[in-house]
Amino acid sequence: MLPLGRRAHVGQSLRSRAQTRTVSPMKLTLHYYGDPILREPAQPVDTIDEAIRELAQAMIRTMHQESGIGLAAQQIGRNTAICVIDLLPEMDVDDDDQRLHPDIAMPWVLINPKIVTTDATAWVREEGCLSFPQITANIQRPWTIELVYRDLDGAEHQRTVSGMLARVVQHEVDHLNGVLFIDRMSHVKKFALKGKLKRLREETRAQQEG
Ligand SMILES: [Zn+2]
Repeated sequence: MLPLGRRAHVGQSLRSRAQTRTVSPMKLTLHYYGDPILREPAQPVDTIDEAIRELAQAMIRTMHQESGIGLAAQQIGRNTAICVIDLLPEMDVDDDDQRLHPDIAMPWVLINPKIVTTDATAWVREEGCLSFPQITANIQRPWTIELVYRDLDGAEHQRTVSGMLARVVQHEVDHLNGVLFIDRMSHVKKFALKGKLKRLREETRAQQEG
């Protein structure tokens, strides 16, 4: 996920550069809207082995290279239930600028994540998505969610997150379920983006055929 247009994240890409120097053989490419993989629900991971750990590292690298704050497996062409998140501390705050989740180490890898409860407090914020270059829209989502997931060591966790972090988790878990942020836009906004979305779909298909 990109919270705003990708050009708005200069500070983030500076940090990304420092973190993307590790060498790994796995090279991933982004998949864009119009690619059928984005609509495919992810398959749960049974065994967390070296291949999964390597995939997670490669996804983190790709997310940083693209200045994203979240990335789901379908966006790199895989239907494995894994997503990665890296939220800057200054984005992980409440209305009074108090840090919300200092205990969660970033980047955060979520395997088989599932949202189990959401609260009734909804809030609207602009979102972007790495699979939709140059497209942003206001999306309404619950402020707080409770999720279950496994970490890279296979341990199961259940925890509550709020604010921007909850928003990114929801955006990425949507991806893992084949749901895209355009599905959550207002009809008016989606109508306004109709031409852009059609062009992106056609570009993606033309690239796949070529
Ligand atoms: Zn996305």
